[in-house]
Amino acid sequence: MTVLERLQAQLKHLNGIDFYRRKFQGASMDVGDIASLDDFQKIPFTAAKEFQEEIKKPPAQCSLYNPQVTRVNFSPSGQDLYPVYQTNQDLEVMHRVCARSLESAGVTPQDMVAVTFGYHLFIAGLFYQGQFEYYGSKVIPLGPGESARAVQLINDYKIGVLVSNPTFAMKLAEQGIPSVHTIFVGGEPFTSVQGYSEKVRAAFERDITIIDSYSMALCMPIARSCGHNTGLHIMDDFVYAEVIDPVTGSPLPLGEKGELVLTHLHKQAAPLLRYRTGDLTVLQRTSCACGRELTMPQSVIGRTDEMLKIKGVKFWPSQIATILRSYPQLSSRYRVEVDSLEGVDTLSLVIEGTPDSAMVLDKLASHLKTETLLKFNEIRITEKLEGGPSVVDKRKGRSF
Ligand SMILES: [Zn+2]
Repeated sequence: MTVLERLQAQLKHLNGIDFYRRKFQGASMDVGDIASLDDFQKIPFTAAKEFQEEIKKPPAQCSLYNPQVTRVNFSPSGQDLYPVYQTNQDLEVMHRVCARSLESAGVTPQDMVAVTFGYHLFIAGLFYQGQFEYYGSKVIPLGPGESARAVQLINDYKIGVLVSNPTFAMKLAEQGIPSVHTIFVGGEPFTSVQGYSEKVRAAFERDITIIDSYSMALCMPIARSCGHNTGLHIMDDFVYAEVIDPVTGSPLPLGEKGELVLTHLHKQAAPLLRYRTGDLTVLQRTSCACGRELTMPQSVIGRTDEMLKIKGVKFWPSQIATILRSYPQLSSRYRVEVDSLEGVDTLSLVIEGTPDSAMVLDKLASHLKTETLLKFNEIRITEKLEGGPSVVDKRKGRSF
């Protein structure tokens, strides 16, 4: 089945869901008329807000709910939780797609695996547990925390594969877990942070395979790297990914930075259709020995919802947070100031750090220029900045 045929079949399913049928009707669209991927791009987007409003309704009133649901996880949204629904078929498809990536990560059914993500309420622990079980590996549901017991069990059972956020993996590595040859990292930005994989390998004091993932509770999995270090491959047999201009909504060609938009190819309960993730990324076609091609080389590099236009160039301040993670000498507290001097935009960045951390500023300046295509008028260090990252746009008198 081609991607188009799969999308057409899924659109028929979505047409039976009020939430989406109203969208098609609002756009005077008949899903039967979608005859090409270009036609598909005419379907209205789904905004995160409208999806959340629907999914938070009680099951009896929620059209995204499905009577065949067998698992209900939750995901935080501000102070609230919203449900993440899966049917047995949803779980089966999810596990099958992931199992293919476990194989390309070099995992075997003989491997012993330990999962250190949480199992209650949220989705991550069971998500990994299920896929490794489906694949045939032997999985210990360790859960988070309790590093002494984790180290003991990993060593007693010669665990080869560890699933963990990178910080916890390093903490365990420092206590000695010599059997681990592969780690699946998640829960923190990893690939987008320069030097992070070297830091983790240094903690392990050997060359290990590190597999990074990108997903969100509403869509697991989205992308995962394989054992060949070619970036995070989109799970294109599970999800259809597009990148759009976040302002105009126009589709962007491969290689251009924009907002990731996702459509589930199979999902029965709570399926996504052209869902705007708000995540900024670049998609490329990369030929990889594992067989997957569509790839996010840097994973997610920022959020789209705070875009500014400076000197005619689109600028996402959250890219700075991503870039700063590569500089352990500098704190994550920064202030971006945008102003206009005689009609020309100016851009400056103040970062919290010690005076001797100023030695990395030249490197940071060229790094920022490469990533943002903007030359900062000023980058300086200050010893103390109150609060978290902030942006002051003096041109418009707004700050956030
Ligand atoms: Zn690959």
